[in-house]
Amino acid sequence: MPDIANQPVTSLRGVGPRMAEKLAEAGIEQVEDLLFHLPLRYQDRTRITPLGAVQPGSDVVVEGEVRVADIAFGRRRSLLCRIQDNTGTLSLRFFHFSAAQKNNLQPGRRIRCFGEVRRGASGLEMYHPEYRLIDDAQPTPVAESLTPIYPGSAGVSQATWRKLCEQAVDLVARAAPSDLLPDREGFGLSLVEALTYLHAPPPDAPQELIRDGRHPAQLRLALEELVAHNLSLEKLRRQQQARGAPVLEGGQAALDEFVGTLPFALTAAQRRVVDEILDDLAKPVPMLRLVQGDVGSGKTVVAACAARRAMACGFQVAIMAPTEILAEQHRASFANWFEGEGISPCLLTGRVKGNARRSTLEAIASGEAPLVIGTHALFQDDVVFSRLGLVVVDEQHRFGVHQRLRLTQKGEQPHQLVMTATPIPRTLSMVAYADLDCSVIDELPPGRQPVQTVLISDSRRDKVIERVRAACEGGRQAYWVCTLIEESDALEAQAAEATCQDLETRLPGLRIGLVHGRLKPSAKEAVMQQFKQGEIDLLVATTVIEVGVDVANASLMIIENPERLGLAQLHQLRGRVGRGSEASHCVLLFKSPLSQQGQARLSSMRESNDGFYIAERDLELRGPGEVLGTRQTGLMDFRVADIQVHGDLLDRVRELAGELADHQPERVDPLIRRWLGNAERFASV
Ligand code: ADP
Ligand code: MG
Repeated sequence: MPDIANQPVTSLRGVGPRMAEKLAEAGIEQVEDLLFHLPLRYQDRTRITPLGAVQPGSDVVVEGEVRVADIAFGRRRSLLCRIQDNTGTLSLRFFHFSAAQKNNLQPGRRIRCFGEVRRGASGLEMYHPEYRLIDDAQPTPVAESLTPIYPGSAGVSQATWRKLCEQAVDLVARAAPSDLLPDREGFGLSLVEALTYLHAPPPDAPQELIRDGRHPAQLRLALEELVAHNLSLEKLRRQQQARGAPVLEGGQAALDEFVGTLPFALTAAQRRVVDEILDDLAKPVPMLRLVQGDVGSGKTVVAACAARRAMACGFQVAIMAPTEILAEQHRASFANWFEGEGISPCLLTGRVKGNARRSTLEAIASGEAPLVIGTHALFQDDVVFSRLGLVVVDEQHRFGVHQRLRLTQKGEQPHQLVMTATPIPRTLSMVAYADLDCSVIDELPPGRQPVQTVLISDSRRDKVIERVRAACEGGRQAYWVCTLIEESDALEAQAAEATCQDLETRLPGLRIGLVHGRLKPSAKEAVMQQFKQGEIDLLVATTVIEVGVDVANASLMIIENPERLGLAQLHQLRGRVGRGSEASHCVLLFKSPLSQQGQARLSSMRESNDGFYIAERDLELRGPGEVLGTRQTGLMDFRVADIQVHGDLLDRVRELAGELADHQPERVDPLIRRWLGNAERFASV
């Protein structure tokens, strides 16, 4: 893009400091930002519709002679003006008007109006049309192109948006920037042609195609944007890999011994992924690997194998989990698995305070603590490692890319292992995780039975409670999950408390526990521990138990108001059961009536236990921002491209990015700068 594009908007005519401020609120700071501020839709002001041909519901330009203009006293006083051409008549109605306005609309004058036609008291009417009186001697031209309607913003009128965008496009068109995509790869359009087309389409432009985001001009821009995005992730990856990492090899005996002491044999998929990781660790560049595996596929032990290798090589390992419950559970699993080897993991969460925290930090800094498990408290500046060799991020989708990268800056350049149970549809992972290599654990440990899922209306709550009683009396354990829309710990906790009390009165024979985000960690752990030991039959919980919690004897889960949650989250929750050899059940206790969309979504839960299928459905039904979780929506914040609309371009995007990097590397930085600005998103965290 020529320099002009990077000028501040104040370089444009009509933009003073106040307007600049308003534009900044809409994220528009440079001329370039206006170029990519594309219209939502268009109005056709390119031709005059004869009055006899206007249809209610359409936006049209009409022209006619004023016949009468009078005040009408109906329910509301209004100025009613009747105009006529040689095909018919139309009424214009103004509820707000001035005396001058009325005087202007003298019978016999010609007037041109634009507005929406509707049925009114006097037949077809236009309310408050835009109009101007015209002079027959001096013909008034109609618009040459469709009129853009821009995404609105308080304090910036459509007329202003139009003026500014037009100026921006003109300036850039005159500067004639060179195209950065490889030649012949622009759907037949240059960048400037595409932008010009979209800001001012010709009268015959296929508006439906544009509405669907599939016009060649849009494809041209989306393709270039996705290529730029891909190149920026590649660059990030190269930067990280340029720094070098400790070579972690050897220590095979320790690892074999560790695997040998596990109470189960690794699945073939787990072994394959462990091998892929060990290969990476043995290289002098930092591993950047994403492990995807459905809930219950056994990712934790895979991480433990990687940790064992790193520790055997004399390096520290940090494992980060999204919740305290999960961090604590990992600490317990690792303590158990590594007990025989005398390795005891230490825990660092926001709740570890005072002396305990001080001595933990010391042990981390001195290198005495080989294995540290925690929450995002691990990011804090006062956490300093002595020899950090491996960082494991569990449930990656819960963290932002920034957080992940921040932890990696704690060591020289540790290897990174990122794990997620939210299967990411291929299209999304190509975009969101293009900087990571990917391994998939596509097999569950043997003996698991698929969870049977049923949808039951809350009008049959009694039946469901009966079912819980029967299951628990039969020696099984159950979860009762309470959900809320707002992410308010306090409200969610209240709801769970109320439900717990209600269930206690109705199920007097059962031992019922309660866990939510407002409990002290010691209290939370105590309840979880009791549930694990089988001392609690029914655990009433909020979605804090969503990730990772592992109790094999629990085989029934009730989820209240499942319609409030995303499918991926429901799948995660449901993954808490079906971990043992018993047949497991999940009851989605929905609030009736259920919307059609809600019905469709919950039905996909009933249809499938396959996280990938569910993720694809979720993407279809909710869009990428939601699927990746709000914390990562920034990642999907494209100017033009839309993963759902342009997913089919992604294969080509990868090819083109590779081609540019190999053959026209001088275009890479300008392309990234054009689309991602100087931020380069997360490169500079
Ligand atoms: P997730 O992939 O959801 O994080 P976990 O790592 O929590 O799954 O594993 C789920 C359960 O399966 C744990 O109890 C774990 O000990 C057990 N597990 C893991 N791998 C195997 C295996 N190969 N055979 C049997 N059980 C396994
Ligand atoms: Mg897990």
